[in-house]
Amino acid sequence: MRIVLTGVAGFLGSHLAERLLQEGHQVLGLDNFLTGSRANVAALQAYPGFTFVQHDVEDPWPDLGPVDAVLHFASPASPNPRSPFGYPNLPIRTMRTNAWGTYHGLEMARAHAARFMLASTSEIYGDPEVHPQREDYWGHVNPVGERAVYDEAKRFAEAMTMAYHRRHGLDVRIVRIFNTYGPRMRMDDGRVIPNFIVQALRREPLTIYGQGEQTRSFCYVDDLIEGIVRLLFLEAAPFPVNLGNPQEYTILALARLVNELTGNPAGLRFEPAMYRQGDPKRRQPDITRARHLLGWEPTVALPEGLQRTIADFRQRLARGD
Ligand code: NAD
Ligand code: UDP
Repeated sequence: MRIVLTGVAGFLGSHLAERLLQEGHQVLGLDNFLTGSRANVAALQAYPGFTFVQHDVEDPWPDLGPVDAVLHFASPASPNPRSPFGYPNLPIRTMRTNAWGTYHGLEMARAHAARFMLASTSEIYGDPEVHPQREDYWGHVNPVGERAVYDEAKRFAEAMTMAYHRRHGLDVRIVRIFNTYGPRMRMDDGRVIPNFIVQALRREPLTIYGQGEQTRSFCYVDDLIEGIVRLLFLEAAPFPVNLGNPQEYTILALARLVNELTGNPAGLRFEPAMYRQGDPKRRQPDITRARHLLGWEPTVALPEGLQRTIADFRQRLARGD
């Protein structure tokens, strides 16, 4: 297949591109390096089936010739207002990338009768009142809160994707991704696992926002990519599918685990929860739909996935990346 993939310089985009190239597909990767890295693109250039197009997906897309699938993964993804790469510091761009970017991607898919996949998020559930979250839960989102630029833009993108399916019969996929981590994550994007690993390797205390009682469920990147590829090549699936690891951890337990795995003696530092307005208290995917539809479930437990991620961060820090 000839596949257009936006966000190819980013964490998930680069892993997904690599997997598709290894399977013999052609990948036309789009990115403007807003939060991604040139090193990720350089590594993909080793595959003859890879073409890179530097482009801001907010703007009308260039003609890329006939395509079989369009996968829209471009978007800032970190909620941390302390990082220049967090979406609270890129509010309008985040909304445009998810609104205009989705629109342009859907139009390209329609022009070529291609399949369209949207990288959506567990954030569309907001600070959930239902636990764990199933796809038929409509969510609890503050439309004017700090996180709304991301949550509401992704909700809009889902609605537009379904509108193209209903109005034009477009073959669409919506993947609701829950917290995913692994090698190649940007070390300074402010998400919790990169923050903790970098702090631990520098022998600094890990910064916990609030008391660390909030929970998240962390999926290792290889597991997520396997689920995405299965969903992409399914006959039809015009509805959202949760992908994530249902094993739930408090942030405090995660911090202790990172310190244990890295032998960091510096402990923890508790910081005011006010840094994170609207921080969801609990998050855990119900993956019943993915289990039935895709025969998929995660296989990498958090300690194992963290070890692999720590090894990658250690190497990149030693190189001075
Ligand atoms: P990332 O920041 O590593 O990658 C995003 C990529 O998109 C970057 O390379 C960035 O430069 C590119 N980009 C952003 N705006 C762009 C624009 N206007 N034009 C072209 N390129 C642009 O983040 P990620 O973790 O790889 O996330 C990828 C996708 O998955 C995002 O849509 C995100 O919302 C979604 N997602 C990720 C997670 C997760 O845990 N990693 C969870 C839920 C959803
Ligand atoms: N968090 C933390 N310390 C950090 C970074 C994040 O305690 O240095 C917390 C944050 O408040 C949230 C959780 O970790 O409750 C996950 O945050 P992340 O930014 O990774 O993503 P989210 O799941 O909130 O989108």
